Amino acid sequence: MLKSIYEEIKKYDNIVIARHIGVDPDALGSQFALKTAILYNFPNKKVYAVGSKSARYNYFPKLDKYERIDNSDTLLIVVDTPDKKRVDISNFDTFPNVCKIDHHPFIDKFGSLEYIDINSSSASELVLRFFKENNIDFLKDTAEYLYYGIVSDTNRFLFNTTSETFRIVSDLVFRYHIDIEKLYKNLYARPFSEVRFQGYISENMKLTENGFAYIIISNDVLLKYGVDSSSAGNMVNNYNNIDEVLAWATISEDVKNNQYKFNIRSRGPIINNVAERYNGGGHAMASGARVNTMDEVELLINDLDNVCRIYREEE
Ligand code: AMP
Repeated sequence: MLKSIYEEIKKYDNIVIARHIGVDPDALGSQFALKTAILYNFPNKKVYAVGSKSARYNYFPKLDKYERIDNSDTLLIVVDTPDKKRVDISNFDTFPNVCKIDHHPFIDKFGSLEYIDINSSSASELVLRFFKENNIDFLKDTAEYLYYGIVSDTNRFLFNTTSETFRIVSDLVFRYHIDIEKLYKNLYARPFSEVRFQGYISENMKLTENGFAYIIISNDVLLKYGVDSSSAGNMVNNYNNIDEVLAWATISEDVKNNQYKFNIRSRGPIINNVAERYNGGGHAMASGARVNTMDEVELLINDLDNVCRIYREEE
C-alpha cells in the first residue's frame, strides 16, 4: 500500500496535504514531513500543507493558502485523520483522488488508497515508514518534524511505544544530529499562566466514586487565567497514573463555536466508543468530542462514569 501511495505521488504535479481539525504536533509533523520530503525529491512539484493554524505550534512552518476550485489534476493526501468530517479542508469533494495515512481506529473510507496501522505510535511514525519502504531521502528539517510528531503523540514515550518506536527514533536522532533539547523547548515551554491554570484544574477537578475525574471549565475561567480552550484541552495529559482515577476529562467552553470540548483520557476503560456516540472519537485511551449543550455535557459525563463503573466491576 505504501508503495502504491508513492506511485500516486509520482503521477501528480500538484499535491495537497491535509490533516484533522483541532491541530496537534503529530498532525503537523506528519504533514510537514511529507511536504518537505516530497519537495526535496521532486523540486518541480507544487505541494501545499493546508488547514487552520495555531499560534501554539509556531515552531512549525506556516501553512499554505490553497484556494483552487478545479482540483481534477491534484492529489489530496490526508494524514492522521480517520473520518472525512474532521479533515481540515473546505473543498474536500473537489479532489478526485485521495490517499490516507493514519493510525486511528477506522471510521470512514474516504480515499482510494488508505494505509492504516492503529498499533503505530503516531501518524509521523507511519510517514517515516512510508519514506523507508520507498527509499525516500530527506533532510534534517523533515527528521525534526517526525520527531515532534512521535514524541508528542506518545507523550514522551509513555504510550503506544514499542521497541520499534525507540529504534526508529534513535536512528533519526543519530543520523540527523537532532538537537533534542531545542525541540523539547519548543514542545514544552509554557507561560506561567498555564501553570497557575493547572493548579486551578487540580484543585477543582471532581472525582466520582467510580473513578471518573472531570472538570467543566467556563469561558470566564479561561479568561481569568488568560488561556484558550485548546491550552485547557492540553492539560488533560497531566492527570495520568493517579491511583483513584481510571478515566478523566477536561471539558472546556468554546464560545467561538458555541460548544463544549471534551478531551478525554483513560488508563483502562475504553472511551472512544463512548465519544463516538457524541459526534467524537479517537483512540481507545485518548479521545475527544464536541457537544452543543450542557444537557449533552452531563449525559457524556454520565456515560464516561458508567464505563468506569463497569470496568471496575469486571476487574
Ligand atoms: P486530543 O484530546 O485533542 O489530544 O484528542 C485525542 C484523540 O481524540 C485524537 O486522536 C483526536 O484526533 C481525537 N479527537 C479529539 N476530538 C475529537 C472529535 N471531536 N471527534 C473525533 N475525534 C476526536
